[in-house]
Amino acid sequence: MDYISTRGAAPALDFAGATLAGLASDGGLYVPREWPRFSAAEIAAMAGLPYAELAAKVMLPFVEGSLTYERLLDLTREAYGRFSHTSVTPLVQLDQQHWLLELFHGPTLAFKDVALQLLGLLFEEFLGRTGENLTIVGATSGDTGSAAIDAVAGRDRVDIFMLHPKGRVSDVQRRQMTTVLAPNVYNIAIDGSFDDAQAMVKRMFNDTAMTGRFNIGAVNSINWARLMAQVVYYFAAALQLGAPARKVAFSVPTGNFGDVFAGYVAAQMGLPIERLIVATNVNDILHRALSTGDYSQSTVTPTVAPSMDIQVSSNFERLLFDLAGRDGVAMAEQMRGFETTKSMQLTNAQREGAASLFTSARADAGDMAGAIRWAWEKCGELIDPHTACGLYAARVSGLPAQVPIVTLATAHPAKFPEAVERATGQRPHLPSRVGDLFEREEKCADLPGDYDAIADYVAANAVPKG
Ligand SMILES: *Cc1c(COP(=O)(O)O)cnc(C)c1O
Repeated sequence: MDYISTRGAAPALDFAGATLAGLASDGGLYVPREWPRFSAAEIAAMAGLPYAELAAKVMLPFVEGSLTYERLLDLTREAYGRFSHTSVTPLVQLDQQHWLLELFHGPTLAFKDVALQLLGLLFEEFLGRTGENLTIVGATSGDTGSAAIDAVAGRDRVDIFMLHPKGRVSDVQRRQMTTVLAPNVYNIAIDGSFDDAQAMVKRMFNDTAMTGRFNIGAVNSINWARLMAQVVYYFAAALQLGAPARKVAFSVPTGNFGDVFAGYVAAQMGLPIERLIVATNVNDILHRALSTGDYSQSTVTPTVAPSMDIQVSSNFERLLFDLAGRDGVAMAEQMRGFETTKSMQLTNAQREGAASLFTSARADAGDMAGAIRWAWEKCGELIDPHTACGLYAARVSGLPAQVPIVTLATAHPAKFPEAVERATGQRPHLPSRVGDLFEREEKCADLPGDYDAIADYVAANAVPKG
């Protein structure tokens, strides 16, 4: 499979190339040249497969030319063998219509493990072939940092430098990063906000003094391989609920539009999906875009669901590109307009195309607390505040009672214990496998919010290009 950029000007790459590149050189995002498609009979034949085998079957068309089925299956077995539940992403019934797809059984307790555990192995595989080294530089407001660190800790040919805003991530989130003592892991607490950290990372990707010496790589969801890995659990859940004979709806707590875009990909591949519900918190740029066609940035309001406190959703570009005839020149123009004015209107083709599969809803603080309470009092399940946005949106969707709605449970409730306790009076406990988190030694560099200090630190510790 070949990958092309949404902005039409970067060279096409194979799967290995797109995985190592992250962002395309024209500023666009890589998408497969075409959507592979399974027949209903092929989908039906996937029912009952162990997760790692299902994953290899669903992903094979995307990796062809870079990995064989056997090698891919080795990697999915290794990645998903680290999950604490044998079915990897178990489905839990809430009531006659509602289900939770638990995506938090990986090492760092959020859905990002599902993709990043595989991505860490893919990096090692492809770097081993070229003999190159990769320097991953990222900024995190919480979940991505810990999942990425866990995925690459101790691996060959990869260093990871993860910046977080000092004092602004939760204790659990910080310790999940700083207690990883592997020599290729560098945590950096900077004086400043998440946006400051993010701006420094972006600057480093454009700093030729750095990119000339180091292969700088990305682990956020602009990386296609992450989205690809997330397509699998849509198949897993729908098959359990009767696909392909029965259509299923999904409600997805959304920030950067990566997870829900994976649902769109599953639909393009032939999985019958009734609806994709985009659930946002009060940072609702996507809800506004999908309901009115107006995609315009405003300021970020902090909420108890911090991983969704986002005002620009990078992966939305992939959807807009696909819905508007895959015209890279037009997309580059539309995105340039957005980058200058911080606002853009969707075209009619984009609005109508999106409306045929997506709906959206926005949950405020009361809606989130109400959903957490409902799940606990009516169904005996503790859910985290991100999942609560999804469940709220699912319950107000107005879909007919015979359509099963699966809410993606994106984080373990113990990652956000205060919000859960406030809503239910119950304090969720960390699973025993991470139970000694608060006793472990921490390792982290404290640096000023100054680009040169960060760049010097990376340059002093990273392994140069091979
Ligand atoms: C990252 C994250 C999200 C948002 O996912 P996107 O792919 O960015 O839309 C939702 N919930 C949790 C817990 C997350 O960590």
